[in-house]
Amino acid sequence: MTTYPIPTLSEKNNELHLENVSLNHLVKEYGTPLYVYSKAALQQAWDAWQHPNADRNIHICYAVKANSNLAILQFFAQRGAYFDTVSKGEIARVIKAGASADRIVFSGVGKTVEEITYALEQGIHCFNVESLPELDRIHDIATHLGKRAPISLRINPDVDAQTHPYISTGLKENKFGIDHNLAESAYMHAASLSGLKIAGIDYHIGSQLTNLSPYLDAQNRLFNLVKKLAARGIELEHIDLGGGLGVRYKDETPPAASELIAQSLQGLRDVGFKHTLMFEPGRSLVANAGLLLTNVEYLKPTEAKNFAIVDAGMNDLIRPALYQSWMQVVNTTVRNEPAINYDIVGPVCESSDWFAHDRELAIAAGDTLAILSAGAYSMTMASNYNTRQRPAEVLVDNQETHLIRQRDTLNSLWGNEQLL
Ligand SMILES: *Cc1c(COP(=O)(O)O)cnc(C)c1O
Repeated sequence: MTTYPIPTLSEKNNELHLENVSLNHLVKEYGTPLYVYSKAALQQAWDAWQHPNADRNIHICYAVKANSNLAILQFFAQRGAYFDTVSKGEIARVIKAGASADRIVFSGVGKTVEEITYALEQGIHCFNVESLPELDRIHDIATHLGKRAPISLRINPDVDAQTHPYISTGLKENKFGIDHNLAESAYMHAASLSGLKIAGIDYHIGSQLTNLSPYLDAQNRLFNLVKKLAARGIELEHIDLGGGLGVRYKDETPPAASELIAQSLQGLRDVGFKHTLMFEPGRSLVANAGLLLTNVEYLKPTEAKNFAIVDAGMNDLIRPALYQSWMQVVNTTVRNEPAINYDIVGPVCESSDWFAHDRELAIAAGDTLAILSAGAYSMTMASNYNTRQRPAEVLVDNQETHLIRQRDTLNSLWGNEQLL
């Protein structure tokens, strides 16, 4: 029996089901490529981040860039989530999904005047500030609007997150955050600016962390800094320990969220801190609640390889092309024929347009393949390259199915363009 990283995926009558919905049935109803999410799996992931016995507030800020579909945001908003955003568009989406603006944290190294103005007008919870010029810019805009902007400084702790270089963000050569050595002077500067209100401190060292030690190293460096700030009269309300908890795609064994929270709480108690604690998980809340369904158009045996050419492309799901990510691929119909070795590739005119190399699968042309763990950094990274229509998205809830995004229509592909 194959095991799956998605907890609500199972075989029934030789067909894969997500909760109580047959994936082949979804294909008949909605076509392919199709993103499918499981509400029960989202709930399990959310529950894993709840920590009932904490002696303080813990805010879970869902990192919107992992999956920003309105229905997914609504799901988390209804459960009391805060949101970590990185653009005006994401802030607007979160509000559109029904969350209150004062639950929004705004991160990112390149916040524009327009974005800062918008965030202040909406009344967000906090700006996670990544540089000194950004601090001055926020002060100027807030003063102009007659407001005080709540801020936290993102500190770059200079620790190696031991993850893929493209998703590592906490080394001093990365573009993120304020150098650990400059943090005290940056806070003193912030304290001198009347348009700012110092609310907290934050870090985020990278994504898909499967080991707690870099995280805890960074945490200790941050706690030392908080002590030094307090000695200078700068008291913080919250400490935001970022996101980055990894998930299982293949055989990774990331720590549980409860373990991470317990260790952070213990660290805080050891130094006698009473602060509100914040986390910014993205991937670990959604990755293993989703999959991408794609139809096998052609089987193409060549001298070197057997290719299964599918109707999804790198424009729909770019993780393998961008990060050489390994994602599990399974046939939604369980076949008893002998498996053979396939490369699973898309139709886009690039050799980077692949999903999986050297997989043992039994496939017939016309079958549907499911690419698993595609709930995070998948649909949010989709593009219209090759003038392809981005996929539809559905959410299953027991035996029910909700369409949460229509497939792009042809008109929507050029709707913003004009002939000369
Ligand atoms: C991307 C990001 C996150 C979420 O990271 P995950 O690995 O998806 O948990 C959190 N905080 C910041 C600032 C980010 O840029």
